[in-house]
Amino acid sequence: MNYLVVGCGISGATLGRLLAEKGHKVTIIDSRDEVAGNCYDYFDDDGIDVHKYGTHIFHTDIEPVWKFLSRFTKWYPFQHRVLALIDGQEVPLPFNLNSIHQVFPEKMAATLEEKLLEKFGFNRKVPILELRKTGDKDLQFLADYIYEKVFLHYTLKQWGMKPEDLDPAVTGRVPVYVGRDNRYFYAKYQGIPLEGYTKLVKKMLRHEGIKVHLKTPFTKEMAEHYDHVFYTGPIDEYFDYKYGELPYRSLRFDFIRFDRPFFQDNSVINYPCNYDFTRIGEYKYFLGTKSKRTVVSYEYPQAFVRGENERYYPIVRDENIALYKKYREEADREAKVTFFGRLGDYKYYDIDKSVNRAIEIASQY
Ligand SMILES: Cc1cc2nc3c(=O)[nH]c(=O)nc-3n(C[C@H](O)[C@H](O)[C@H](O)COP(=O)(O)OP(=O)(O)OC[C@H]3O[C@@H](n4cnc5c(N)ncnc54)[C@H](O)[C@@H]3O)c2cc1C
Repeated sequence: MNYLVVGCGISGATLGRLLAEKGHKVTIIDSRDEVAGNCYDYFDDDGIDVHKYGTHIFHTDIEPVWKFLSRFTKWYPFQHRVLALIDGQEVPLPFNLNSIHQVFPEKMAATLEEKLLEKFGFNRKVPILELRKTGDKDLQFLADYIYEKVFLHYTLKQWGMKPEDLDPAVTGRVPVYVGRDNRYFYAKYQGIPLEGYTKLVKKMLRHEGIKVHLKTPFTKEMAEHYDHVFYTGPIDEYFDYKYGELPYRSLRFDFIRFDRPFFQDNSVINYPCNYDFTRIGEYKYFLGTKSKRTVVSYEYPQAFVRGENERYYPIVRDENIALYKKYREEADREAKVTFFGRLGDYKYYDIDKSVNRAIEIASQY
């Protein structure tokens, strides 16, 4: 078959590769002048791997995804940790027993630890909603503290709205982790592609059955020349916004270079309560790069405005999901087009989920 894949992010590239390996002819187009979509990265003058669209750390428990990507890269075994500046302390997130000992006086921390262990046992993630239900005033205090210091102000910045305007399930899910593992992800496989994400994607595209055209936006007339179209662009754009625009949250990244080896103590530090930015990422940590200078990005959430900035996070609210469903119904009627990827499905996907979805689609063709 002769296939067109729209979008050369990790979703489109994965699908393109798998279809080509099945013997199909695949053309992949992208409106950008670079491959890898939002996973795009580059090595700067200091040899630091900079992620243009924000810090990307690969993590997965999905064995086939890990195996597939590992065909195109070796990995730097990076285990992600996030610190948050809370009451002047840089504490591990998710908020855990170590965080508790850092921010509270010794006796109080010991009491909270004891109560958490007694009530929930070691190594459990407890949503603050559950803490509130225990009827214990110390645990209630802890739940309120985490809500206020970790969640509330961060949410106001990140989403530009109050937590109660978000799906209520989200608020209650903020966890305290009854354990001492300071990692942010607990997945079996975690790492950064040794030569970066862009190189990984470029290797994936190196196949005689694949042609890539950059700076090539999709037009509906293109479909006539192909047996089927796989579309990872925005689903509302494909249908000319006939039901209205699907809302997204966007981000602005201010990249700053410092003339010293390190800027901060960790790859990512969150600022839930202070400043307008939500976090600062320092890129040299991801591949353990040694250099005299360093580069960081300050991350400022902002509204998505078409033509002005990028779509980042779908805003998960009932009315937006209802709007998406209208487009999905239209999409299901398009026999010659398959919609997928984070923009095609209007869904936040981590890299592994994007790859997995592409693997599933490829298995049907
Ligand atoms: C700030 C941020 C941090 C993240 N960090 C992580 C992380 O640490 N770990 C993790 O696993 N995941 C992370 N992710 C998720 C990750 O970025 C996505 O899983 C992944 O990029 C999705 O790939 P995709 O191919 O579906 O979409 P994209 O990467 O967006 O690719 C879509 C491509 O389609 C092209 N396109 C769109 N419309 C058209 C059109 N009409 N014509 C032609 N081309 C078009 C676009 O130019 C783009 O290149 C993060 C996401 C964000 C927003």
